[in-house]
Parts: sequence; structure tokens; C-alpha cells
Amino acid sequence: MKTNAAPYVSTTNACKLCKPLGACLAFRGIEGAVPYLHGSQGCATYMRRYIISHFREPMDIASSSLGEKHAVYGGGPNLKLGIRNVMTKYRAGLIGIATTCLTETIGDDVPGIVAEFKREFSDLLNQHGDPEIVTVATPSYSGSHMEGFHAAVKASVKQLAQAGPKHQGVGLFPGFVSPADIRYLKEVLDDFGISATILPDISLTLDGPALDEYEKVPRGGTPVEEIKSLGGAKAAIEFGRTLSKNVTAGGLLEEEYDVPLHSLGTPIGLRESDCFFSVLEEISGRAIPERHALERGRLIDSFVDGHKYVAGKRAVVYGEADLVVGLTSFLAEIGIKPVLCATGSRTGRFEQSIHAVLDEFDIELPVIRDGMDFYEIAEEAEELHPDLLVGNSKGYHLARRWNVPLIRVGFPIHDRFGGHRTLHVGYRGAQSIFDSVVNALIERKQEQSPVGYTYI
Ligand code: SF4
Repeated sequence: MKTNAAPYVSTTNACKLCKPLGACLAFRGIEGAVPYLHGSQGCATYMRRYIISHFREPMDIASSSLGEKHAVYGGGPNLKLGIRNVMTKYRAGLIGIATTCLTETIGDDVPGIVAEFKREFSDLLNQHGDPEIVTVATPSYSGSHMEGFHAAVKASVKQLAQAGPKHQGVGLFPGFVSPADIRYLKEVLDDFGISATILPDISLTLDGPALDEYEKVPRGGTPVEEIKSLGGAKAAIEFGRTLSKNVTAGGLLEEEYDVPLHSLGTPIGLRESDCFFSVLEEISGRAIPERHALERGRLIDSFVDGHKYVAGKRAVVYGEADLVVGLTSFLAEIGIKPVLCATGSRTGRFEQSIHAVLDEFDIELPVIRDGMDFYEIAEEAEELHPDLLVGNSKGYHLARRWNVPLIRVGFPIHDRFGGHRTLHVGYRGAQSIFDSVVNALIERKQEQSPVGYTYI
């Protein structure tokens, strides 16, 4: 039989993770929240394993534990039972329910089941302090972990924020950055005197101190009351050039509550950080605080000092779309040629975002690909002869095959220690990544030299 359908090509070692995993990460950044997967136990186990190996923190994800019969009869009863268990065992302040491929395919109406639950168990809800319940649809066949992450942030704002009195607070939606990034952003906002609600805030919930006793729900995270008051915020800032406003929390606040939105690229490198700092100057009415001006100055000085090691080198960059856009911008400004920019997501705005950050450089445009897996990245990159790779641990086997350094950034970092403490954003983050890049290239030069160098 003849068919016009394109031949099926399997994904080989995907350059993305599953959609509800991103939602669980976002929910983990809300105070008192327990992420909950409406699906089978296996999905929750896979996600926990991934998240724990990067963050090296406990990560509880509750699950409806659906089996075969629920695929036929529906998962409603298990969802209700699961919510009750989470309420009684965790005393959660918020339960963030994300669907999986299974429950989306069988068509469970999760908001409807939750509404039924609230009617049926109103006594129990009162007894346990009435936790907020946020639901988000995250079928993995319709997107990557990043779409799930942004969907969960937007759902939290949509279902919690209220119209209220205007206040001087600012909402910051940083996207999926590291706990170290969030700590740095807090410091910067403090220095500008800006009172900000950062959503999500994983700085403590996924990078907490050692404790004598295990906390079922880790401390930290964005307070629910602050999310509720975002409707009255003075402004919102959102990172992510590939995001369109109709999928983001910032876009929703602007549309529903008239909160002015500043959409920026993730501030990686000098120029994208400059944009962020100038927005902070505008919002606060203050000039950049001296210590950040000094960090900027030292960064430029190091670019000058290190230029001879990096100029003309060729890089393959891969990972989450907005991280890749930011890294591409950074690499171009330090004189490295990005030759392949790849992501596993399909945002529809990846290519134009890469073009936008390379606009002012007189360089050959890189190959730009979305929806990629690592097999395709290898195929594309084979002829491009990269000098280094920049991305997460999943590119390790390619770096090894080509005998080039891998600069580990983003998520997941399974094969090094402290990946979640990597600082990517701001002048300080650019400094840290720049030093890593320069030193990796120097190290490779030493390794490949027949005489070695002790002084370069
Ligand atoms: S891709 Fe679908 S089936 Fe696989 S872990 Fe994610 S939600 Fe579960």
C-alpha cells in the first residue's frame, strides 16, 4: 500500500526529558508543595532517579500508581485516594498534580476529579488546612520537560493569583535555572532594593543544608501567598527568548492583571546580562550597584586576557532551548564560533532567537536544529569538527568520541559533582563559565602536546 506519511524515525538518546518531569521541578520550587503525578508508578520512579542524580537531594514525587485496569476504567478513584494520602502523610501546603502520557491518553478529567474530591472531602480539607491543589496537563508526547516546566508555572499563577491591591513587588520568572542561579538572582534583586517573588524558587528545596531529621516537605520555595498577590505586582520579568507570551506566567499576568512584562533572554553572557541589569535599573530607579559594576568590569578584563585561548574555536551547543540561546550569545561574544545549536524541544522560535543573539556579529550562522536527539546531533556535528561541546552530561559520549572537552552546564549533570551549584546567569555566571571554557581548552592543549606546557 502506498502512503504519503513520512517514514517513522525513532528517537535515539533524546536531547530532552519528559514533560511532567519539568512540571515536578517547577512545583518543587513552591513552598510546602508536593509534586504529584497522575499516572503509573514507573513514571514517578524514572523522574525521581533523574532529578536525584543531578541535585543529590531527596525528591519525593507522589503518584496515583495506576495499573492496567485503570487504563480501562479511569484513574479517578486512585487520584482521590492519592490526594488524601498526600494530605495526611505530608501535610502539604500545595499539591501540584501533573498528568502523564497514560492519563492524558485515557482522557481523565483531572480538574473535574479534583472538584469532585473537594466536594466529597470538604471535612478532611478543613481538617488539614485546606491545601491548594494546582493541576496541569503534561502529556509527554506533546512536548519536552521545558514545556512541562513553563506549563506548571503558568498553571500555578493562573489558579492562584488574584486581583488585589497594587504593590511594589515584582514577579520574576527565571525559567529552569540552577539553585545557585536563583541565589545569585536574589542577591542582585536585593542589591537593587527590589522586593521580588521568584517563581519557582528551588534554591533551598533542591539544594538544602544537611539536617538531623528528614523533612518530608523541604523548607524553602515561593510562598503561596506571594503567588496569590502577583495580580497586584508592579512589574514582571521573564527569561526566555524562545517563549511566546501565550504559554507563560508573565504573559498571563500582563493579559489578566495588567502587570507590565519585561521579556528577556536568559541572562547568560555579557550582553544578555546587560539587558537584565538595565531592566532592574529601570524598575528600581537606581544605577547598577558598585559590586555588580565591578564584576562586569572584571568579566570584560578576563575576556581580553583569555581571548587568545578561545578565539576561532568551534563549539557545538545543545540542551534546553533558552539555555542554548544564551550560551550561543555568550560564545559568540568571547570569540568562539557556535557551529551547531541543537535542542530537543520544538518551540517554533528557536531559530529566530539564535539569529537575534547573533545579529550583531559578522560570523557565519551555525546550523540550528530543534527536535533533535543525540544520534542526529552526532550526524550533524561529524562534519563540523568542533573543538568543544557545551551542554549537559548526555553529550559525554560524543565528546569522548571526538576527543574534545565537554563544558558541563544545564541539566542533567550525572557524571560530575555539584552540577546544581553551577552558576550560569549574570556577570558572575559568565565569569565562571568563561574560566571553565578557557581552562578546558588549555588542558586539552597540554594533553595533546608532545612536550607539554607548564606555562601558557
Ligand atoms: S514519557 Fe510518558 S510514559 Fe514516559 S515517563 Fe514520561 S510521562 Fe511516563
